[in-house]
Amino acid sequence: MPYYAICSSCRKKFELVEGSMQYKQYKERKTKYFTCEKCNEQIRFAAIKQVFGDNNTSVIDDQ
Ligand SMILES: [Zn+2]
Repeated sequence: MPYYAICSSCRKKFELVEGSMQYKQYKERKTKYFTCEKCNEQIRFAAIKQVFGDNNTSVIDDQ
């Protein structure tokens, strides 16, 4: 049985992939915030960029 959630980022309805983390969270009602795959990727990319930015700053600080 497919589950659908509203993406809290782009507000679009999307299907939760069976067996995925968000699918489990939906079933267990652990969270009401979900993000579609597209926004998930963007968030992950932004997080990676942030980590790289922080690393660069610490490298500069150490020198
Ligand atoms: Zn989205």
